[in-house]
Amino acid sequence: MGAALVTSLSDLPIREDLRGRSPYGAPQIDVPVRLNTNENPYPPSPGLADDLARAVREQAVGLNRYPDRDAVELRARLADYLGHDLSGERVWAANGSNEVIQQILQAFGGPGRTALGFEPSYSMHPILTRGTATEWIAAAREDDFGIDPGKAVAAIEEHRPDVVFLTSPNNPTGTALPMHVIERVVAAAPGMVVVDEAYFEFARTGTPSALTLLPGHPRLIVTRTMSKAFAMAGTRLGYLAAHPAVIEALLLVRLPYHLSSLTQAAALVALAHHAELLGTVDRLRAERDATVAWLRGKGLSAADSDANFVLFGRFPDRRAVWEALLARGVLVRELGPAEWLRVSIGTGEEMAAFRAALEGAVMEGA
Ligand code: PMP
Repeated sequence: MGAALVTSLSDLPIREDLRGRSPYGAPQIDVPVRLNTNENPYPPSPGLADDLARAVREQAVGLNRYPDRDAVELRARLADYLGHDLSGERVWAANGSNEVIQQILQAFGGPGRTALGFEPSYSMHPILTRGTATEWIAAAREDDFGIDPGKAVAAIEEHRPDVVFLTSPNNPTGTALPMHVIERVVAAAPGMVVVDEAYFEFARTGTPSALTLLPGHPRLIVTRTMSKAFAMAGTRLGYLAAHPAVIEALLLVRLPYHLSSLTQAAALVALAHHAELLGTVDRLRAERDATVAWLRGKGLSAADSDANFVLFGRFPDRRAVWEALLARGVLVRELGPAEWLRVSIGTGEEMAAFRAALEGAVMEGA
């Protein structure tokens, strides 16, 4: 006789350490103003779309073959984009920086190993950590969402984590880390240090990238993505820069042919158009700074942000505010400490809709 009918997840022989866990869950709700997943609100231009269509057409006639397994050309072009004297051997790419981070954890985490991050931060870091059967250790940020270097070093010395995550600018707080904090962490960490720079292009002019620390630090990994400033979230292309030995380690865990020919072609087109795609960054930064000023002008709290979103509050019942905004067609995100919400920066019209909805929601007493 076969096994009894499965009726729910708990009936399945799932790994014990995954029981009771929640999946990543940004709601995908079709409303007029979607300001909840930190995308760039400006779509690629028709010219870029035409180039992309041509590139896909070229690939289409070769789709009977597997793609370039090591994405050699794409990695070389990503290195050119990053600068800092990088070359393709020091760059790796995958389907979004989420996959890049998963591969890092597959290679450097795993059963019996630990990864440490400073919360509140990006929710996928602990989810990917646990998914690779790595233990997650949460260290705390300060009240201003910064990281105290002395406390960070103490936490690292106490736990001796195999992987440390730093996120700069941080999600969901927008906080950029000063270089001396990153340097202290890199010097103290016994294992790998991942600096997640998904939002780096939005940081204030003059903010140095952790890429400047790569020479002489073979255990440092800097991750980036085309999902945010590059306005290519649908493409799913993330990448990293690190010592070539790190990339050798990732080759041990990646799936063969993980990056489709279509993804590689799309990313190459995006890179060829990078000036145009990044042309919206200044507008978004200005809108971000205006949003922070407006929120504070209304007597609300808003965290300093170097990213394309703003954490704001404080609402004793943030769920009620989130719902009141949604009722007015504006989707933001319930994230971060209990009384805060996060709004991604949209177009000028979208931010006007956000301001009107928030005023309405607050007036309603939500
Ligand atoms: N890192 C951070 C800090 C993020 O906020 C995100 C996306 N929300 C990612 C990485 C992953 O982005 P993607 O997989 O689209 O590159």
